[in-house]
Amino acid sequence: MDKDTTVIIGGGLQGLATAYCLLHKGEKVLLLERNDDVAREASFANAGMITPSHSTPWNSFSDIVQIFSGIGRKDSPMLLNLRYLPSMFFWGLRFLRNSSKSRFLRNSQHSYQLAKYSKQITKETRLKNGLSYDDAQNGTMKIFRDKSKLDQSIEITKKYSDSSIDMKILDQKGVVEVEPALADISDHLAGGILYPEDEIGDAYKFCKELENLIRTQGGRIHVNTEIKKILVYKNSINGLLTDRVEIRAKAIVLAAGSWSREILKQLKLNLPVRPVKGYSLTHQSGGLKNCPEIAILDESTHTAITPLGKRIRVTGVAEFTGLDDDIHIDRVDYLNNMLLSVYPKLYSQLTLAEGKAWCGFRPMSYDGLPYIGETKIKGLYVNVGQGHLGWTKAMGSASLLSDIMLGNKTAINPKPYLANRSL
Ligand SMILES: Cc1cc2nc3c(=O)[nH]c(=O)nc-3n(C[C@H](O)[C@H](O)[C@H](O)COP(=O)(O)OP(=O)(O)OC[C@H]3O[C@@H](n4cnc5c(N)ncnc54)[C@H](O)[C@@H]3O)c2cc1C
Repeated sequence: MDKDTTVIIGGGLQGLATAYCLLHKGEKVLLLERNDDVAREASFANAGMITPSHSTPWNSFSDIVQIFSGIGRKDSPMLLNLRYLPSMFFWGLRFLRNSSKSRFLRNSQHSYQLAKYSKQITKETRLKNGLSYDDAQNGTMKIFRDKSKLDQSIEITKKYSDSSIDMKILDQKGVVEVEPALADISDHLAGGILYPEDEIGDAYKFCKELENLIRTQGGRIHVNTEIKKILVYKNSINGLLTDRVEIRAKAIVLAAGSWSREILKQLKLNLPVRPVKGYSLTHQSGGLKNCPEIAILDESTHTAITPLGKRIRVTGVAEFTGLDDDIHIDRVDYLNNMLLSVYPKLYSQLTLAEGKAWCGFRPMSYDGLPYIGETKIKGLYVNVGQGHLGWTKAMGSASLLSDIMLGNKTAINPKPYLANRSL
């Protein structure tokens, strides 16, 4: 391996986007992924939403209440596994500390700046390369069953975005005008908010498009290659050890999502990122009646229902339960019930047994902001911790990191996300 190549560890959204941005800016790149395909972990079957409109971290007061009231309950959208509590203790304290009104607002503002920038880079990348990934640019809509929650959401969104997010406040009738498939449940709704500037798209298909661009434009991707250790000499990277060979590198970018923490532990670096498990269930919807056209989000339950081409995907659940990748049937039932409660007519036409259940781990920081940039080990960079917004923020995080690495002027202030705030 040439000493002039940047090696990227992890072939999810962050790793692929990083490789693409560096390659595009003239760097030689090699991406290493342990699985036999890229984007088979958190970036595989997520909710597909690119939503600067949803920039708040998951430690609002109501989220905290939901997490604690979910202890021991299998039907709760948020769940904390008590067995996992000891390893989460200090992270949990910081998570709670960042739920104060002032920190929550400040973190939401920073989160929004990155999400907005990222959406712009995603769009530029799509248009420049003619990418297609079941994408749609018809916005997203939040629905509310409780008027006070609707008012709170409007207030916080205005605050963190400085009223720069285009949002249309809708009453029951307005919600149904935007999405006629919601007519059956409109009586139960207090209203909604339409965000016309949000986008959707299949993250896995986007990753495969990036993979293709990287390979055809001279970058290299090796799958079936697990990184065992990052080699360091006198506080600078010296290369890395895979399950097959030792590799030299000009720089290393760690983008291994929820597994990054274990890799950094070997170097005595403590990455404050924890896995938050989520589920999705994807049904074929081609040819069915009453299919929705717009992606909706029920903020109170963190559930999303997204039309992706000829499929409909329902996504949700936040489990603080470590890296347990079992798919629990009660969680699948929960998602089916969410679909039934929102689109009963569509639900009645589905063949439930054919739905594809999936789970993935959102790499979550305690303040809702990712870690981007160089660590205290020279030449070792990270791009990790985008949490529930890792699709939204992927292209922006990667573009920001590539500019930092190359010493370019950055398009947004990198300070709130810099890795050295912790590493
Ligand atoms: C249910 C659910 C719904 C979501 N919905 C949305 C949404 O609508 N919008 C949004 O913006 N975000 C969403 N997200 C979040 C988003 O999917 C994640 O933040 C994002 O996929 C994380 O990308 P990543 O590249 O950091 O991690 P991953 O996709 O997990 O990639 C990490 C990669 O590193 C590899 N790896 C790990 N260890 C090693 C090693 N030792 N050697 C080599 N390779 C290694 C893994 O195999 C993996 O491929 C959702 C997440 C979930 C779980």
